[in-house]
Amino acid sequence: MSVKTPVYLDNNSTTQLDPSVLEYMMPYFLAYYGNPASKSHKYGWIAEESVSLARNKIANFIGCSPKEIFFTSGATESNNLALRGIAEAYLKKGNHIISSPTEHKSVIDTLDYLSKSGFEINYLNVDEYGIVDPNELKKSIKENTILVSIMYTNNETGNFQPVKQISEICSEKNVLFHTDSTQAIGKIPFKVNDTGADLISISSHKFYGPKGIGALFIRNKNPKIRVIPQITGGGHEGGLRSGTLNVPAIVGFGKACEISEANIGDENLRLKNFTNKMLNSFRDAKIGLTLNSNPKNRLPNTLNISFDNIDSAAFMSEAKGIAVSSGSACTSASLEPSYVLTASGKTTESARSSVRFSLGRFTTEEETDFAIEVVIKSIKKLSKENEI
Ligand SMILES: *Cc1c(COP(=O)(O)O)cnc(C)c1O
Repeated sequence: MSVKTPVYLDNNSTTQLDPSVLEYMMPYFLAYYGNPASKSHKYGWIAEESVSLARNKIANFIGCSPKEIFFTSGATESNNLALRGIAEAYLKKGNHIISSPTEHKSVIDTLDYLSKSGFEINYLNVDEYGIVDPNELKKSIKENTILVSIMYTNNETGNFQPVKQISEICSEKNVLFHTDSTQAIGKIPFKVNDTGADLISISSHKFYGPKGIGALFIRNKNPKIRVIPQITGGGHEGGLRSGTLNVPAIVGFGKACEISEANIGDENLRLKNFTNKMLNSFRDAKIGLTLNSNPKNRLPNTLNISFDNIDSAAFMSEAKGIAVSSGSACTSASLEPSYVLTASGKTTESARSSVRFSLGRFTTEEETDFAIEVVIKSIKKLSKENEI
C-alpha cells in the first residue's frame, strides 16, 4: 500500500489546514496587512471589512448574530474568558459553579483556580460514557449557583452530553449555561439555538482552520450577560478582549466555517463508515477490547477503545505506522491514565490501555485499511508477548 506514514488519526488534537483556507488567507499576510482598528486609511478599512465578513460567516454557520461573536486565541482562552469572566461578574449573586469531571483541562484547571479563590465548584457524577444526569443537575442548582459549564461533546471519547436538557434546566432556574463546543462545531451540524446555551466556546483549528484563533459566543439577551474582560487594553471586541485582531487567522476561520457548512453531511457519512469499519474489523479479528465511545451516540470521526491488557504506551511504540493518542494530548505527555475514563468509572488499567482514533476530512479509505492492519498486527504481537 502506498500511504504516507505515519497515518494521521489524531484530528481531535488538531487538523491539517484545508489548502483552500490557506489560499484564502495568503493575501492577508502580504497585501491586506492593515490593522482593522486603523480608521483613517484604506489598509485599515480593508482589514476591518474582511474581519466583518468573516464574523458574518462564523455567525451564519452557527446560527447567531455577528454581534454575539467575540474573537479569542482559541477555545482555551474562550473557556477561561467564560468561566473567569462570569465568575467575577456575578460574584455578588453567588459563588457556586456546576461542571462535570470529564471537561477539557482548560475548563477543569480554570475551575481549580476559581476554587482556590473562593468559588464552590460542584462536579456532577457521570455514567460509563462520561454523561451527566440532568436530574442530578436540577437537584444541584442552589440559590447561589451562577453558572453551569458542561461540554457539548468530549474530545477523548466523542460522547455527547444532554446539552439541550441542561440548557432548559438552567433557563428554568435562571442560571447561566456555558458549553465548550470545540469538538462539535465544524464537525457536526450545530446551531446555537438548538443548544440553548448562553456562552459557547469555539476553536478554528479543530475543523481545518488555522491554529491560534477561536471565539466565544455570548448570547444577546435581556438582562444582558455580563462578562468581565480578562485581557484589557485598546478596547477591541467591544472591550471584552483587547489586542490587535489576527486578521489572516480570522479570515481563515471564516473560510473554514464556509467549507464545513458545505461538506459536513457527506464528511460525516464517510467518517462514520470508516470508524465503523475499523471497529468491526477489530472485532472480527477477535481482539479483546472495550469501546469507550458511546455506541449509540458518538462523534462520527472518533473511536476510543481500550485494548485488553495492552498498555497504550506500548501500543503506540509498536504501531508506528499510525499517529494516534492515548487519552488527551496533555495527559499523554504526563503518562497519567485518562482522567476522563477514570471519572467515567473505568479502572486505571483500562484507562491506561485506551487509544483514541480520530479521523478527519483528509483521511482516505486506503489509510483506514492500512490503520486497521497496523492495529490488528500490533495488538496480536503485544498479546503474544504478554503470554510469554
Ligand atoms: C482542543 C480543545 C480545547 C482547546 O482548544 P484550543 O483552541 O486549542 O485552545 C478546548 N476544549 C476542547 C473540548 C478541545 O477539544
